[in-house]
Amino acid sequence: MSEDIIRVTDLSTRFFTKEGTVNAVSNLDLRVERGEVFGIVGESGSGKSVTALSIMDLVDSPGEITGGSIEYRNAEFADAVRDDHPDAVDGEFVDLLGVPDAARRSLRGTSFSMIFQDPESSFNSSLTVGEQLAEAVEVQRRASARPRSGRARTNREEYTFGNYALSTVLPSQRYVREESRDRAIELLEMVGIPDPAQRAEEYPYEYSGGMLQRAMIAQALAGEPDVLIADEPTTALDVTIQAQILDLLNDLQQETGMTILLITHNLGVVARMCDRVGVMYAGEIVERGALEDVFDRPVHPYTQGLLGSIPDLEGVTGRLQPIPGNVPSLIDHEMPDRCYFADRCPKAMDECLEKPPEFDVDGDHHATKCYLAEVEYAESRALPEGYFEAEDAAGTDERPVADDDEPAGRAGSGTGREATTNPAGDAGTKGGESE
Ligand code: SF4
Repeated sequence: MSEDIIRVTDLSTRFFTKEGTVNAVSNLDLRVERGEVFGIVGESGSGKSVTALSIMDLVDSPGEITGGSIEYRNAEFADAVRDDHPDAVDGEFVDLLGVPDAARRSLRGTSFSMIFQDPESSFNSSLTVGEQLAEAVEVQRRASARPRSGRARTNREEYTFGNYALSTVLPSQRYVREESRDRAIELLEMVGIPDPAQRAEEYPYEYSGGMLQRAMIAQALAGEPDVLIADEPTTALDVTIQAQILDLLNDLQQETGMTILLITHNLGVVARMCDRVGVMYAGEIVERGALEDVFDRPVHPYTQGLLGSIPDLEGVTGRLQPIPGNVPSLIDHEMPDRCYFADRCPKAMDECLEKPPEFDVDGDHHATKCYLAEVEYAESRALPEGYFEAEDAAGTDERPVADDDEPAGRAGSGTGREATTNPAGDAGTKGGESE
């Protein structure tokens, strides 16, 4: 097993809006190993991107990280901040929430880099792609010449106050060094842009969507980061180009050994790229484990639903099997004190309403936040059909009750919820589901 490079513990990120506090990420735990591809998968609104932005320190007002820690392993960085912030350092790990913003920002590009969903809005349309890449290279070159602690800075000659003043006053493209321009062309070549020297002279509008995504990957690689966070990197592309971009990321990962945190709603992308995976729902990771564990033996009904919603082109009908319902409101006072998936879950039981479930095991093992990890599912224990609809319509007093002699069996009741399938076959799930 490789060493951890990121340890996220109990992370909460909230947005303070007029409507109330939105719990975008709640008490999230995540561990990413050096050199692996870790996938975070889930529907829109599940908190995937906010998790990525929290790690990158890019959460804007009215959002705020309200608790937890984000630890990053980097011995050099730990040495640089240890004297001034001893509480933030644990061996080679530094809690990024315990160091000043400037120190954290110094990690962007060189330690963490991010690819965003929409390459078109990530480039300045008035500068050539080459200029923008060269500028990124230059910024990273200066950042790595600028030590991360004030004490160490006095020992370095390369990035003097004169350089700093110059870089503040003059337009940056005027003094981007020739080496940085050459490196920009190398980066374009590395990501498979044909005729890179000529393409570097072109503007973003002259690039196709796929080429622009490649250029954005090149930009993200300018600082040779330890960790690349790719947030839906292929969403805006057609399927052929998607495949090319995924191959490119795969190749770059193999060549450089960098760690990739891949954010996606696409299970096909996860299956193709990832070593381990965390399934996110309503701001939490609800199932995590090695790719084969989560895909072949999913326990959480949400994971089963996601896998069941993959189009089956060889099936009899070829029809999609959607998960009914929507992600719940994440506003504080609207969040129920029960499993957040309960009103969409075909296997919800009484105990699911008592309190939100927790992970059944610690550490690296395949684990899930679901009572089915610990108890055998039986239809007789399912909540009666229409339970949540009645709750919505008339309040708790008029909920239907199960008939003891004739189990309501919501999972098989014709509500459409039974459509959730597990194409991988879940005979070996911990819940011991019998279908
Ligand atoms: S805890 Fe209960 S309601 Fe929640 S996903 Fe598991 S079975 Fe369904």
